[in-house]
Amino acid sequence: MHETADLDNAFIGGRWVPATGDVTIPVHNPADGSVSRELASASEADVHFACTEAAAALPSWSGTPAADRAQVIRRIAEELQARAEQLADAITAEVGTPRHKCVQMQVKPAVHAFSSASSTGPRLFAEERLDNSLVRLVPKGVAACITPWNYPLYQVATKVAAALMAGCTVVLKPSEVAPTCVAILADAAASAGLPPGVFNVVFGDGPSTGEALITHPAVDFVSFTGSTRAGARIAGIAGQYVKQVSLELGGKSASLVLPGAPLAQAVSKTLDKGFQNSGQTCAALTRLLVPEDSLAEVQSVLESQVASFRVGDPADPGSVLGPLATSDQRDKVLGLTAAARVAGAELLAAGPVQANADGYYVPAEAYLTAPDDELAQEEVFGPVLAVVPYADIDAAIRIANNSPYGLSGAVWAADPDEARKAAELIRTGSVSINGAPTHPDAPFGGFRKSGFGRERGAHGIQEFLTTQSIHF
Ligand code: NAD
Repeated sequence: MHETADLDNAFIGGRWVPATGDVTIPVHNPADGSVSRELASASEADVHFACTEAAAALPSWSGTPAADRAQVIRRIAEELQARAEQLADAITAEVGTPRHKCVQMQVKPAVHAFSSASSTGPRLFAEERLDNSLVRLVPKGVAACITPWNYPLYQVATKVAAALMAGCTVVLKPSEVAPTCVAILADAAASAGLPPGVFNVVFGDGPSTGEALITHPAVDFVSFTGSTRAGARIAGIAGQYVKQVSLELGGKSASLVLPGAPLAQAVSKTLDKGFQNSGQTCAALTRLLVPEDSLAEVQSVLESQVASFRVGDPADPGSVLGPLATSDQRDKVLGLTAAARVAGAELLAAGPVQANADGYYVPAEAYLTAPDDELAQEEVFGPVLAVVPYADIDAAIRIANNSPYGLSGAVWAADPDEARKAAELIRTGSVSINGAPTHPDAPFGGFRKSGFGRERGAHGIQEFLTTQSIHF
């Protein structure tokens, strides 16, 4: 038995047990490309053990009063908060988020996910009476949660907090790119007094460990966040086993600047949202739609603003952006921008890179594109903005909706009614007007290839609940 987090192990039944898979996965530091540790992957037998423990823990956890579950979940928030600096160190070392921003950007939202679930949850379980029938909300059962690397703690927290509050038990397979923060979370959950078997973690890659988890007979529900490619495969597999899935997938969100909107502010805030975490954010604003006749002004704002996105070592407080998380991601971004230049896209602005050549660094850039260009359609997942001019508002709405994705978006306007009208015409799961902040408990999720299902707040907990009707 191991008392503390170790990536040679899986967290099953409330303790660390050796993982018995025959593959080890190197975990890289994106700042310099070095291998920081080796991740031992879970075998099919380990996944079976985790699912069996989760199934065994289900009757007791789902039968625990919601208010008591909420207390444990609140303690997990406190235990995470106490480990905030350690978590930020781990995330910076594996994702490359600048350390001086990491607590705020990566850890705080995860702590909020647990504290919010604990305060929202208990009031969601009201029973409905229909004459002789009673409709009660019950947990879906054992939830398999599979998560990506870009916000490796928050993406886990938003699922696990909601699942636990709903009364589900969980087997989590986090991203193999950034696993250490999840090992710290497992220790925090154990310190908070979460009963053994309620939350289990298996490390490993998608095709072997991930698919062994999805297909395990004890798993009732699959909650996935990641790429549209993997989400489509997972939904297909889950369909064969008649398992329900929720999918939080990719995005290519438009920032629509209407005529008369405060242009400099709109461009500057779009860059902040688009380049956050080096553009590795599913809801990043990566298409800037501007009136044709404002293009010269837009370019001059971009030239001054993009230059301020200094890319550098994540340990350096002067770095606005760190490296990309993986060498594959760096190669993808550089490939897409090179192809765009060959295809004739005009580089409108570029920022500086001051960093180690072995790290996975790319400059912040903005390109002038047509609506159907690859750069305006593909999820680049890097600090690259596609600027798309439009002729009139009808064309602007058409361009905003001309995407396989439908995750998020923004509208900028001088007139609030005009802004709301445009927001209602944009077919995405959320739209922000004039830079309004996203409420952390407002439902979040996609249309079209951005997936289905909602996370955060009450809607996120409801995703892990179903109904049972009892007729007297
Ligand atoms: P990814 O799809 O490659 O991997 C995500 C997770 O799925 C990882 O844990 C991976 O091991 C696992 N996986 C991959 N193939 C699998 C399979 N066949 N079976 C089971 N598991 C499998 O995504 P990524 O590169 O880690 O993350 C980036 C993507 O995530 C981007 O497309 C981004 O937009 C998306 N994302 C979406 C949201 C959202 O809320 N909509 C949030 C964050 C990231």
